[in-house]
Amino acid sequence: MNNINILNISNPKVNLLDLNREDLKIFLNSLGGRNFSTQQIMNWIYKHYCNDFNKMMNISKKIRNELYEKSYIFAPQFIEEKISYDGTIKWITSIDNQKIETVYIPEKKRSTLCISSQIGCSLKCYFCATGRQGFNRNLKVSEIIAQIWQANKILKQKNINNHITNIVFMGMGEPLLNFNNVVSSIKIILDEYAFGLSKRRITLSTSGIVPALNKLRNIIDVCLAISLHASNDSIRDVIMPINKKYNIESLLNSALKYLKYSNANRGKITIEYVMLSGINDSNKNAQQLASLLKKIPSKINLIPWNSFIGSSFVCSDMNRINIFANILRQNGFTTVIRKNRGQDIDAACGQLTGNIINRLK
Ligand code: SAH
Ligand code: SF4
Repeated sequence: MNNINILNISNPKVNLLDLNREDLKIFLNSLGGRNFSTQQIMNWIYKHYCNDFNKMMNISKKIRNELYEKSYIFAPQFIEEKISYDGTIKWITSIDNQKIETVYIPEKKRSTLCISSQIGCSLKCYFCATGRQGFNRNLKVSEIIAQIWQANKILKQKNINNHITNIVFMGMGEPLLNFNNVVSSIKIILDEYAFGLSKRRITLSTSGIVPALNKLRNIIDVCLAISLHASNDSIRDVIMPINKKYNIESLLNSALKYLKYSNANRGKITIEYVMLSGINDSNKNAQQLASLLKKIPSKINLIPWNSFIGSSFVCSDMNRINIFANILRQNGFTTVIRKNRGQDIDAACGQLTGNIINRLK
C-alpha cells in the first residue's frame, strides 16, 4: 500500500488515479467498502472516464459520501495540442508550472502513445533535448496515468477510431529512476478493470539503470528497449554519462537476465541505436555492435538523430544508415530504421522538452 505516501499535509485527500487495484482495494476496505466496489469504481474511472462520485449510482450512498470526504479523481488536463501533417499529435500538460509531453502516433495496424515518466531527466545524454533540460521531479502515478486517460478521452471526442493499442515509456524521463510510480502505472495499464493492455503492447525504454533493471524482472513483465547508442564503452561513456556507472557489459547482462524471465518480449529485446554522424556510425561500429550483441537475442532499431537547438551533433545520412543496417542484417539481426514521426511539431524521439525554446525553430 503506498497511498500513505500519497496523503500529504496540503491535500489530505487521496487521488484515486494514484492507486492501482491493490492499493484501491485497501483504501476502500478502510472506508468499509466491499471488495466488489473496487471493480465498480475502476469501471467508472477507466471505462466511463467519470470523476464525479455522485454519478456512480451502483455504489452505496454511504460509500460515495465517504469517498467524497477522503478522496477525489483528478487527471491533469492537456493545455496544448499540436497536430502533425502525418497524424501524430503532441499534447502538453502543465504540472507545477513545468511542461510534460505525450505523443500519439497512429499507424495502419496500431496506435502508440508515447508517455513521460519524469519532468526532465537527470541523465544528461548529450544527444537528447530532455537530458539537456535537466531534472525537475518524478511524475506521480496519477500524472503518468492521466496522459493515457486524457488521450483516450480526446480521441473519443474527436471520433478518432484508431484508439491506443500500444504504450511506450519513451517520452520525457528515465522510467527506471521513477521505479515505484512507473511499476504501479504499468499495473494499471495492464489491469483488465483499467486500460487492460497486453504486456506485449507496453514497452519500457531505459538507458540502463542496472540495479533497477535487475529488480524489475521479479516485479513486472513488459517489452524492454535498451538505449544502447554505442558499440563500445569509450563512445558510450562520452555520449551517455550513465555508462561510467553501469557499463555496456553489466547492462547487457542485466537485459539478458530480464529476457530469461520474460514472456512479453517473445525472446528478443529491442536495442535502440541513435545514428550520430562521425560518432557511432562507421562500418567498424556496426561490426562491433554485431559482435557485442552476438549472445543477446535482439532486434535493432536504428533511430535517425533528431536535432534540437543548441546541439552540435549531425544525423548520419540515409546512405550511411542503410549501409550500417545492412551490416547488422548480414550478421543476422532484424534491423529496422525508425521512421521519424511528428518532426514538424517537435514530437520525435529526444525532441521533447515541453519548452517553448524548442519550438522557436
Ligand atoms: N530515458 C529513456 C526513455 C526516453 S528516451 C531512454 O533513454 O531510453 C526514448 C528514446 O529516444 C531513447 O532511445 C533515447 O536515447 C532516444 N533519443 C533521445 N534523444 C534523441 C534524439 N535527439 N534523436 C533521436 N533519438 C533520441
Ligand atoms: Fe534521459 Fe533518456 Fe534523454 Fe538519456 S535519452 S537524457 S535517459 S530521457
